[in-house]
Amino acid sequence: MSQLLSQRLWIKNPLAIFTANGLDARGGIVVENGQIVELVANGAKPQHAVDNTFDASSLVVTPGLINTHHHLYQTLTRAFPAALNKPLFPWLQALYPVWARLQPDMLHAATTLGLSELLLSGCTTVADHHYLYPQALTEAMDIQVDAANKMGARVMLTRGSMSLGEKDGGLPPQQAVQTDQQILDDCERVIKQYHQRDHGAMIQVALAPCSPFSVTSELMVAAAKMAKQHDVMLHTHLAETHDENEFCLQRFGLRPLDYLESVGWLHDKVWLAHGIHFTEQEINRLGQAKVGIAHCPSSNMILSSGLCQTLALERAGAKVGLAVDGSASNDGSNMIQEVRQALLLNRLHYPANEMGHIDALRWATAGSAAVLGRNDIGSLAVGMQADIAMFKLDECRFSGAHDALAALILCGAYKADAVMVAGQWRVKNAEIVNPVMDLVELQFRHSQCAMRLAQSL
Ligand SMILES: [Zn+2]
Repeated sequence: MSQLLSQRLWIKNPLAIFTANGLDARGGIVVENGQIVELVANGAKPQHAVDNTFDASSLVVTPGLINTHHHLYQTLTRAFPAALNKPLFPWLQALYPVWARLQPDMLHAATTLGLSELLLSGCTTVADHHYLYPQALTEAMDIQVDAANKMGARVMLTRGSMSLGEKDGGLPPQQAVQTDQQILDDCERVIKQYHQRDHGAMIQVALAPCSPFSVTSELMVAAAKMAKQHDVMLHTHLAETHDENEFCLQRFGLRPLDYLESVGWLHDKVWLAHGIHFTEQEINRLGQAKVGIAHCPSSNMILSSGLCQTLALERAGAKVGLAVDGSASNDGSNMIQEVRQALLLNRLHYPANEMGHIDALRWATAGSAAVLGRNDIGSLAVGMQADIAMFKLDECRFSGAHDALAALILCGAYKADAVMVAGQWRVKNAEIVNPVMDLVELQFRHSQCAMRLAQSL
């Protein structure tokens, strides 16, 4: 543990602060040993002497943002010509053959690049859904753990999977699928090897069959049993498009949620990416089961997927968090921008006096933490991990703004000025300072990987 971690640091007098729990911290936050040890009320000073102070008087402070759903490898296929302007199923079919050629060095570069991009946008925890395991990439989880460790990112790495290839009536090509047994063996291995259970865990593992149209029912059932046995969470895509509804009705004779329940997945250790096409009755069932939803506004708009019924889901008892989704359907990975997208998209659906900027921020912080089953991140309170994002309102776009917290969202912030993960500074002056890294070199290496991947077709 570094010396810095054991010192008391007062992040002093922020311009504005959002604690995500209603607590007053207008005088700032005191951090020690990677955790928040005190909230300082407006005009007050810390109760105990501090070793250092950090002047936050020009910064808007929020909990570190939490991204609940991503496919980091997709940073290699942003704005990919063959996939442009297509809805989900044709979009997937255009990209699967490219993705099936992913190599280990490409995944490492993509994970590092995506985590860097997210960190610079104020995101401190990332859930990644990696479901591509072609022959060259059976150690994908190990590659991602290595990249996350080097970046000092807090991650929920989900062991994704595809086992229902084209020849069995699924959507992915055969070379991109594994057998159920290969998948389950590796799921067990990575849970045992990497899943941390302690307060402040930096790496957690969840099991994540890709979607109803890319895995067998047997795998869904077995994954649910294994997750229960090892007390880890479950994740998948569900109810993203009308195509998926039709697929489920044709193949299983069930709507997606009925199918989910039939394979033992309707409970509070499950979170679903998208969760759009549900009936009122289905929303109530999701609420009663306390299922989590990773709301992905940009992706839903780009693929014309539909409007997630976020507030109705929350009112029913479901948990709602925010996500950027994979970089082939966003195509950026910027969490603070996604907060604005969530506000704007949901305003098309809900009255302005019911859907506010605070709701969008709440989803990206406390909401996302609940979705990932975490009680140690997502808000600023004593005992929580010191995961903190700070934004400077020093550009033309913010000039003349009155409410600094509202301005962060309404004027369109897109980069964090300072970011701390577990009490360690990762970003200062809008640059990654730890680890010391050459972003130009990383972008060059990453773009070379993207070109190689596209040319391998
Ligand atoms: Zn996704």
